[in-house]
Amino acid sequence: MLRAVVLMHEIGHWISHCVPDERGETWRTAHFLVETNVVKEMWAQLFAHWVVEEERDLKLVFETLTRYQAEEYLKYQEVVQYDKTTMLYVLRYWHRCFSFLDNPPAKDVIELLIPAEMLDVARHLYSVYPQERVLKRKVFEALDFVPGHLIHQIFD
Ligand SMILES: [Zn+2]
Repeated sequence: MLRAVVLMHEIGHWISHCVPDERGETWRTAHFLVETNVVKEMWAQLFAHWVVEEERDLKLVFETLTRYQAEEYLKYQEVVQYDKTTMLYVLRYWHRCFSFLDNPPAKDVIELLIPAEMLDVARHLYSVYPQERVLKRKVFEALDFVPGHLIHQIFD
């Protein structure tokens, strides 16, 4: 069971980083590599957490293991309150953005593009790890929510 939960964690890294979403987007390796370990481990742990929730013994093993792990492996506990849909949205909208947008849109534009709840979650997650890079990543498929002419106004 220990092997199983470790494998789930590793698969969590793989899914969060490499498995394409419905747009074909991944967490680009160039962005992934420079991300903090705490963020990367949070995602891996979160996927494992979702799986072990379905099986009592695995859950016990996972939680016991976690007690002996470094702090970065505990970060996921701050987000387990959010459902999968919300968290996958954060993964897609925060980490899997369009590569052509290197500059962050203005703050009010971000607020316009990202639904408030998702933005709150993302802020909660990342506020303690302020990195310029993170702020440069505000690209989202939420652009779909915005009329084309507005996108040109914002980004051209
Ligand atoms: Zn890991």
